[in-house]
Amino acid sequence: MNREQSTALFEKAKNLIPGGVNSPVRSGKSVNMSPIFIESAKGAEIIDADHNRYIDYVGSWGPMIVGHSNPAVINAVSSVLQRGVSFGASIDLEIELAGMVADAVPSIEMVRMVNSGTEATMSALRVARGVTQRDLVVKFDGCYHGHADTLLVSAGSGVATQGIPGSPGVPADVIRNTLSLPYNDITAVQNLFAECGGKIAGVIVEPVAGNMGMVAPDVNFLKTLREETRQHGSILIFDEVMTGFRVAYGGAQARYGIIPDMTCLGKVIGGGMPVGAYGGSADIMRHVAPEGDIYQAGTLSGNPVAMAAGIATLDLLNRPGVYESLETTANRLVEGLKNAASAADIPVQAQAVGAMLGLFFTETSVTDFETAKTSDLERFAAYYRGMLENGIYLAPSQFEAVFVSTAHTDDHIDKTVAAAEKVMSSLTAS
Ligand code: PLP
Repeated sequence: MNREQSTALFEKAKNLIPGGVNSPVRSGKSVNMSPIFIESAKGAEIIDADHNRYIDYVGSWGPMIVGHSNPAVINAVSSVLQRGVSFGASIDLEIELAGMVADAVPSIEMVRMVNSGTEATMSALRVARGVTQRDLVVKFDGCYHGHADTLLVSAGSGVATQGIPGSPGVPADVIRNTLSLPYNDITAVQNLFAECGGKIAGVIVEPVAGNMGMVAPDVNFLKTLREETRQHGSILIFDEVMTGFRVAYGGAQARYGIIPDMTCLGKVIGGGMPVGAYGGSADIMRHVAPEGDIYQAGTLSGNPVAMAAGIATLDLLNRPGVYESLETTANRLVEGLKNAASAADIPVQAQAVGAMLGLFFTETSVTDFETAKTSDLERFAAYYRGMLENGIYLAPSQFEAVFVSTAHTDDHIDKTVAAAEKVMSSLTAS
């Protein structure tokens, strides 16, 4: 595949933008490649600057669940643009999207729109701390909740890809109140709460982990979090920035029937525009300014274009059969990938939850960050490069999830599995 234009653009970008990218996860560093530059995208396919066409499993890192350039989303955005781009004042569309979110997500009665997932988790933690008047926050190794200082501890996603525990620039004092435990470790949670439960403001968790690759939760782990936080007066926050409207319309909490106190959203609810949101019971959310005294604000929050894209996306998702069909697509892909690996005699762990999935190159069952790290990263890098060469666009890191959309057809899945068969057999041969 010729990638001359992408390579030339990347060379230019590197002089102007750190690492040539505006988010580290886009860089191909861990797979020894420079990133492709995108020209356009439609449905489940993207076209790069050299006019190469790929089947896309990144979906802008989750938001594009109804496919790229979906006509309903494009129409909604185009029509709202006739009213203006931004007013920094209240509009009807904010109420409409808030209503759709509250109807869908069991834990949310009231919701505040922000501009990114990072802002959502950062704000939810502030609320948890403000409401409980406590400082300690618990997270889990390999979960990523955005790049707010307090949460850059044993984080997943780009932090895991770079193989670093945190980040320079985060003062030790700031993370003193952040505790990180192994994901899915019920005993560790029980022990910590027995020791200092009365000091814990909140627990934040990805209810299906998607930032150490995809790791499914042990439902009893989520139940334990619910029980311990309730018993000790701590606030349970589900970070559903990735899983919201992806593993079910109502997110992981609807799928597993475990209802947190607060929920963070992002990605899908913005339909590809920059949006995040955090919400919970009215009792909790009434503490947020201006109704309460916990301060949080945003110049562009509730932006009309973003609200319109989100409403159009949720409207397409809230129809009979959509999630069943997404899940069928994801399961077909997982089965195909497992068969391709097994035919090539390559040990893998693969699983789907709703419209997201994970594939690890390891014999070890993957249940947390430690076991996720047993994946053969060199093999992943070779697989990534091979798949790209065969027209399949994956996230350039083992520690990311694979996303399917309503635009992925059986034909896309068949082509992807055929590419995987070819690539995996070349991996054993090499
Ligand atoms: N929380 C989770 C679970 C995420 O996956 C992400 C981003 O991938 C974030 C928070 C941060 O969202 P954003 O990149 O929009 O700041």
